[in-house]
Amino acid sequence: MNNIKTICTKCKKKPAVFFRKYSGEKLCKKCFLVSVENRIKSTISRFKMFKEDDRIAVGVSGGKDSVVLLYALNKIEEKFPKSELIAITIDEGIKGYREGSLKIARKISRLLAIEHVVFSFKDFFDYTLDQIVEKTLNSDLKLAPCTFCGVLRRKALNLAAREVHADKLAMAHNLDDESQTILINLLRGDVERLARLEPAQFFVHPKFVPRVKPLLEVPENEVTFYAYLRELDFFSNPCPYAQYALRGDIKDFLNKMEEKRPGTKFTILNTHLKLLPILKQAFRKKISLRECKICGEPTPHEICKACELLQKLKRL
Ligand code: SF4
Ligand code: ZN
Repeated sequence: MNNIKTICTKCKKKPAVFFRKYSGEKLCKKCFLVSVENRIKSTISRFKMFKEDDRIAVGVSGGKDSVVLLYALNKIEEKFPKSELIAITIDEGIKGYREGSLKIARKISRLLAIEHVVFSFKDFFDYTLDQIVEKTLNSDLKLAPCTFCGVLRRKALNLAAREVHADKLAMAHNLDDESQTILINLLRGDVERLARLEPAQFFVHPKFVPRVKPLLEVPENEVTFYAYLRELDFFSNPCPYAQYALRGDIKDFLNKMEEKRPGTKFTILNTHLKLLPILKQAFRKKISLRECKICGEPTPHEICKACELLQKLKRL
């Protein structure tokens, strides 16, 4: 904030350090931190994400979102002594990138005295992401690295969460990620995916670890500012493959819209939430889970997306 003399609109005592454009609030450090934590708590209870004795696996990449999620959940879960947190990291095998973020994931877990387990693409799928990119770049398989990475990571996270006997898997998707994903699926015309995109996925299948997004209603800039105020270390180098992603264009577009019309990202999220019951009803058969004919893992399709991609890869 430029004008440091502006007083916090909440406590009306301390100087404001953050201007929340979409609500008009000007917040001091303490009120900002409390409001972000309260937002996370209210998202957790709004979507009934946890039970008080849940063993919660938290996907921690070392980026700001996952570091903030682990820190905030640790704070919130202190009041629930029967619950337990465990940090899991998926090492995709991206040379010169993942090593640094892994270090941060280890550091924050140690700092909070939370058990941390690392799983890798190589162990689960026999390939690192670098090897996959090398194989596909000069081939006819016109698939971006992020397509492989996203599909394989989703499957790896479920395998990992099951391996650590978690009841829930907490993911660090923030409001920006979610509104981008909604728009991407709209632009791709992937209505089925929109029907599966939920704040808390409680698909009934014994092999599926329910997945929740406690940061869903926290905008990305607030996650970053929270990390800064709490002096949390996070990894911010961009992934070398990010240039291939459609997400970057959508992100720029949404940020411009938000600047002009504050609250746009929340509107996109809330519109999707209103449509969700109708979408789920319309696609209930297509989004229910069965077992992949190849690997036996839960999937809405006959063959899971990961096996489909790995088969294509093997044929190269
Ligand atoms: Fe994976 Fe793409 Fe993210 Fe890199 S940018 S970690 S390749 S999804
Ligand atoms: Zn499969």
